[in-house]
Amino acid sequence: MALHQPLVKAAVAALCATLLGAAPAEAAAPAAPRSAPVVDEQDVMPYLTALQGIADRNGGNRAHGTEGYLESVRYVKQVLDQVGFRTTLQPFRHAGATGYNLIADWPGGDARHVLMAGAHLDSVEAGPGINDNGSGSAAVLATAVAVAKARLRPERHLRFAWWGAEEGGLFGSKYYTKTLPAGGREAIDTYLNFDQAGSKNTATWLVTHDPSEAAGAVEATDAFESYFAARSIPTFDIGDTGSDDQSFAAVGIPMAGFTTGISDCIHSACDDIKNVDPATETVSANAVLGVTWQLATTKGR
Ligand SMILES: [Zn+2]
Repeated sequence: MALHQPLVKAAVAALCATLLGAAPAEAAAPAAPRSAPVVDEQDVMPYLTALQGIADRNGGNRAHGTEGYLESVRYVKQVLDQVGFRTTLQPFRHAGATGYNLIADWPGGDARHVLMAGAHLDSVEAGPGINDNGSGSAAVLATAVAVAKARLRPERHLRFAWWGAEEGGLFGSKYYTKTLPAGGREAIDTYLNFDQAGSKNTATWLVTHDPSEAAGAVEATDAFESYFAARSIPTFDIGDTGSDDQSFAAVGIPMAGFTTGISDCIHSACDDIKNVDPATETVSANAVLGVTWQLATTKGR
C-alpha cells in the first residue's frame, strides 16, 4: 500500500484537475528545462565566411586598432541586437589605439550567479584569424543566437563576450576583469573560454581544467567531459589555454572551456576560411551550446 501511495495521489490530483477543468498546479510550476537545441554547419559557418569577407575588405586582417577589427565587432553586435540581446561596447586603450570588448547580456536569470562564455574576436596583423579566433567567436555567437531563438529562460544570468586585443597580451579581457564593479567578480560563477574551435585534423578536444578546483570550474569541466564522453569524442585535460581564460583565473573567477589546438597556420596569412574544418567547428559549437545551456539552466549555489 505504501508503495502505491504516490500513484493514488497522482490519480487523485489528475481527477481533481479534470473536475476543475484545468490543471492549475501544473500551469503554475516552472517549465522543466528543455535540452539544448542542436546547431548545424549552416548555423555556424556563415559567421566565419562573414569574418573572412571583413578581413578581405580591410587589408587581410582584423587586428586591434584596425578597421577590420571595428567592422568585426560591429558585425557581431548587429547579429546579437537583432535577436534581443542587450549589447555593450566597452572601450579601452592599448598601444595607441582604442580597442573594444563586446558584452552581450541575455535578459533574465539570477544576477548573483552569472555564467559567462567568451572568445577573442581580434586577429594578429599577419592574417585574417579565422581559426584563431573567428572559430571560437562563431561558436559563441551560434550559441547566443540559439539561446535567443529558443527564448531560453535561464536560472543563472547569461552573458556572452567577444574580447578585443587578446593577441599580444589579453588586453581586452584584462581590462574587463580589472574594471568589474564591486561584487562583479563574485557574481560570476564561471567563465567559459573558446580559443580555436575548428582546427583541421582535430581528433581530441582539449578541455581546460582550472587548477583552483573552485566549484564553478569543476562543475563546468565535468560538464564538458560528460558532454564529449556521451558522444564518444576523445578529450585531454589541459591547464589554461594562455588565452582570455587566464585573465579570469588571475582575479579568482573560476574558468573552463576547450580548444581544438594550434594549427600550422596560426598567426599566419593562411589562417583563412580554408583553415577551419566545418565538421569540427560544428561539433565545437554544439559543445559550447550544450554545456552553456546545461549550466545556465542549473540554479547557482
Ligand atoms: Zn587565439
